[in-house]
Amino acid sequence: MHKASKNLQEKIQELSQIIYRAATILSKCKSCGTCIKYCPLNLREFNKDGKAVTVNTTISCGGCTVCYHRCPELAIQLIKLSKNP
Ligand code: SF4
Ligand code: SF4
Repeated sequence: MHKASKNLQEKIQELSQIIYRAATILSKCKSCGTCIKYCPLNLREFNKDGKAVTVNTTISCGGCTVCYHRCPELAIQLIKLSKNP
């Protein structure tokens, strides 16, 4: 088995330190539910005002961009958060 190069190992280490978060621009959300339907990790839900948000969980949002690309209202932003700010 090949060993990953030092550069690749460093890159993987760097990526493992990043948490992605899908954040909703609430004023733009039209509550269509598309992001909830397609999130592969089931991390989207309606809040009490009927707007779709990423659930508050210790599990990191995967940052897969599915919700970002599917939202017809361009109401989702992907934010990078470092685990070690
Ligand atoms: S896909 Fe966009 S508009 Fe539809 S519920 Fe999700 S955030 Fe709101
Ligand atoms: S970026 Fe992917 S994992 Fe994160 S909330 Fe959106 S669809 Fe779900």
